[in-house]
Amino acid sequence: MMAMDLLRKAPVHPFVPEGRGDGKHVLILGAGLAGMAAAYELGKLGYRCTILEARDRAGGRCWSVRKGSTHNETGQPEQRASFDEGLYFNAGPSRIPHHHALTLHYCRELKVPIEVYNNINESAYYFSEGAAGATGNGPLTNRKVRIREIHNDLRGWISELLAKAIDQNKIDTGMTKEEGQKLLEYLRAEGGLDIDKLYKASARRGYMEPPGAGEKAGRIADPYRLSEIIASGLLDPDFYNVAEYTYELQMTLFQAVGGMDKIAEALQKQLAGLIHYRAEVQAIHNLAEGVKVDYKDRDGAQSIQADLCICTIPLPVLSNIDHNFASDASRAIDNIAYVSTGKIGLQFRRRFWEQDEQIYGGITHTNNQLTQIFYPSNDYLSGKGILVGYYNFNEKARMTGELSYSRRQELALEKGSLIHPQYRQEFETAFSVSWQKTRYNLGGWAIYSAEERQTLYRALLTPDKQVYFAGEHLTYLNAWMAGAFESARSVVAALHSRVTGQRFSYPAS
Ligand SMILES: Cc1cc2nc3c(=O)[nH]c(=O)nc-3n(C[C@H](O)[C@H](O)[C@H](O)COP(=O)(O)OP(=O)(O)OC[C@H]3O[C@@H](n4cnc5c(N)ncnc54)[C@H](O)[C@@H]3O)c2cc1C
Repeated sequence: MMAMDLLRKAPVHPFVPEGRGDGKHVLILGAGLAGMAAAYELGKLGYRCTILEARDRAGGRCWSVRKGSTHNETGQPEQRASFDEGLYFNAGPSRIPHHHALTLHYCRELKVPIEVYNNINESAYYFSEGAAGATGNGPLTNRKVRIREIHNDLRGWISELLAKAIDQNKIDTGMTKEEGQKLLEYLRAEGGLDIDKLYKASARRGYMEPPGAGEKAGRIADPYRLSEIIASGLLDPDFYNVAEYTYELQMTLFQAVGGMDKIAEALQKQLAGLIHYRAEVQAIHNLAEGVKVDYKDRDGAQSIQADLCICTIPLPVLSNIDHNFASDASRAIDNIAYVSTGKIGLQFRRRFWEQDEQIYGGITHTNNQLTQIFYPSNDYLSGKGILVGYYNFNEKARMTGELSYSRRQELALEKGSLIHPQYRQEFETAFSVSWQKTRYNLGGWAIYSAEERQTLYRALLTPDKQVYFAGEHLTYLNAWMAGAFESARSVVAALHSRVTGQRFSYPAS
């Protein structure tokens, strides 16, 4: 029927409220993804939108650092990026899970090309740092070990242990003999066990000498013993196999070609003339009808009124802004916590991780302050490249955030050199972002306890008179762009229902 033009093609991720908002003026605070997506959808419905944005750019956390990018953190001088032209570093989002349908929908609708982001790379490393000479260090401490070696050894040893326990009736499985047999067969395959159900060396964990032509069969190393792995700290939480087991981190993941900010840029293009930059909101007041917002721009103190408002300002920032919200909303704004997190981009003159170590994308994990090193999933085999030298959270992020930019760089180089000795020779320039110290964010993303979801979180899901709250913090998709998009649609639906008097909600209830 579509081919015959008898049926209209359904939008991939439909959002088609009925009715128009013509004549209504909506003031949107913040030109991050939530604010811009809200303005974009409201514009389709005929609303007049004005966006106030404190920064001189749109996108908020959806930010890729390029040559000339500047950044301000509390207590630090302005930082300016001197990466080479064409190189970039995603200081905020870097991955789009394949099931984040709305993020992918906007990429499709706004024609933002995407490419696969290689999140899982068994060729990258685990590096367990231990204090020099300390008791408790194992033979693999302070040594980089390919992830595939540890993953396969752990699978092997754990499968062997389980197989033995089942074989010898050591555990009460409650299974029939046939079921036990099936499980044993599975464990043999899962762990790569031999005919006697023992774990021995296998090609799964890679080669000491790779196979090749003629007589070169390849040489496989013996597995590490389980006790060695444990003693070396490689069974500690820092090295849990999160990527394959966490829903959001399972392949396939994507990234926007040329930097994740291409998504923000595409939205921004749709909103020509609507975004008022360097307009820092200072007060938000509900009036008997409508809303009044005071802000400061290049020309000084300003004030603007509108019928309705969508506030996407991150809560730690909003907490310092004057308002007349009800006490429940006010309490939520002041008490919802945000995670501390930071990243550093390191430009190298040579992609030594590819050339010397066959690492193409993926992540090295370490228990030191770096937490993770991200390898780029783009421009493989090209000349220069930018690594994410650390991507850390909580206490480690707070500690690095307290350092000056040059000390952060030094930390990344010092600790990174333990894993990649090429660092010092190949390093060119760095740029770091500590999100909890970043003006207009003051945190990475919202985090809630189960109890707070029932109290603080809920207080902001309904509008405070004429002011609606939106952003990643008002979803169960914290730390994801999808949260910003889902939240934008949710408030647009609520606002539009109010204006048109119809019952329409998103997500559909
Ligand atoms: C380190 C990091 C890694 C991430 N990784 C991923 C990832 O891999 N994949 C993914 O999908 N998501 C990721 N995210 C999450 C994603 O970036 C966010 O969920 C999303 O960008 C939030 O959008 P937002 O519009 O809700 O908020 P923001 O982007 O913070 O937008 C809020 C806007 O309000 C503006 N503002 C603040 N104060 C004022 C004021 N006083 N006056 C006017 N304007 C103001 C800000 O400048 C900003 O533009 C990551 C985030 C971080 C920080």
